[in-house]
Amino acid sequence: MFDAHIHLNQYKDIDRQIEQWQQAGIEGVAAVSTDLRSSYETLSLKQRYPDFIFAAIGFHPEQPLPSSRDITEWENLLRRERHLISAIGEVGLPYYTLHEQQHDYLEHYIAFLDEMMCISKRESLPIILHAVHSHTPIAYDLLTRHHIPKAHFHWLKAAPSVVKQITDSGYYISVTPEACYRERDQDLIRHVPLKQLLTETDGPWPFSGPFQNKATSPIFIEDVIKKIAEVKGKDIMAVQKQCKQNMLALFEPSALNAAGSEENERTI
Ligand SMILES: [Zn+2]
Repeated sequence: MFDAHIHLNQYKDIDRQIEQWQQAGIEGVAAVSTDLRSSYETLSLKQRYPDFIFAAIGFHPEQPLPSSRDITEWENLLRRERHLISAIGEVGLPYYTLHEQQHDYLEHYIAFLDEMMCISKRESLPIILHAVHSHTPIAYDLLTRHHIPKAHFHWLKAAPSVVKQITDSGYYISVTPEACYRERDQDLIRHVPLKQLLTETDGPWPFSGPFQNKATSPIFIEDVIKKIAEVKGKDIMAVQKQCKQNMLALFEPSALNAAGSEENERTI
């Protein structure tokens, strides 16, 4: 089982936590960053757990735009540590905080996201997007304009017609533990082909329903997988296996090829 989107640098006592997660069957996580500082932190975690973490660096959109000084330093970090990096993220467009700002601010965020897409394209790195509701189509248009081959719409909330455009383009969409108790997310599962579905927690973000008052961890993924299996009428193990393949196809296609050949060898 994999967690395709977690803010790993925000966890305390990480060594003990990762050990517990691994014991519970978690094979890996995609650790995203929200600013320059967390980008450094994510990469240092990646160095400590190279086989458990896919590292993504970026600037979260639900906050003021980064300074040009931070962007320059971040680009230097990307160049220097490129070998440690699996994706650009999380980046995207503000939605929840936009009302607090002047509305023409959105244009600046669109321009910044455009810059991030150029980098994603130039570096051949997938891009992890926070772009929900009415802002999903804006991010989608940018992706297609830049011909970005690999993108992940994390915790997507969008109309079925937009979901269809995204999946028709081969991009990935993830669901969170919210799918276990919220009809809207179960509906999303119905609309996304299993081959493009990922599981995530966005931890340490807290959840309600059966997860009320529980500290969010990738261990919740087991319940998300069960819910996907139930909604799609599939076998739990088959869903788990497909979600793993999706995760590797997005973040580490070479591992997928290796896993594929290993399996072939075994069947021979
Ligand atoms: Zn996030």
